Amino acid sequence: MTKMTPLLERNEQFAAAYTPGPLGPPAAQVVIVTCLDHRVDPAIVLGFRLGDAVVIRNTGGRVTPAVIEDIAYLGFLAGQLFSGIVAAEGLFEVAVVHHTQCGTGFLADPGFRHRAAAATGLPEAALEAWAVADPHATVKADVELLLASPLLSPKVSVSGHVYDIATGRVTTVLDARHPQPAGNS
Ligand SMILES: [Zn+2]
Repeated sequence: MTKMTPLLERNEQFAAAYTPGPLGPPAAQVVIVTCLDHRVDPAIVLGFRLGDAVVIRNTGGRVTPAVIEDIAYLGFLAGQLFSGIVAAEGLFEVAVVHHTQCGTGFLADPGFRHRAAAATGLPEAALEAWAVADPHATVKADVELLLASPLLSPKVSVSGHVYDIATGRVTTVLDARHPQPAGNS
């Protein structure tokens, strides 16, 4: 008996009705970057079915070097595997979704941040960079950061959104945009 036991029972029901699908591009043609917060599950909030979207989750849903590397590889993979299917309209859209009441918001407070650094061994500057105190501001910053990356394929577009925990509503802050060919920072 573990915490997983009741979840494995749910999986039994899932597997009983399951039909495997072929490897293909995500049906919704999106890659979601969002927070690991359990109240922000994009499959539920955005109504995904299996195979609809790639989801990358980390603390705050921040665009980190690791996230940029994941997206660079996904862009390469999609170009290799699905170029005949998706070339006309681009590879996919990366939708960065930050949310209200994010647990990283506490890190905007210097005292809390200091205690977190002391307890975890994480650098204070890194913890400060995680903080999503104003999701509208951080989502804009992260969309710009991703668009400015030389690793981002020009066939990938990026948009920014905020999920409101109080209402369940996702609002678009920045419409989808492709990176500038010349690149600017
Ligand atoms: Zn969060």
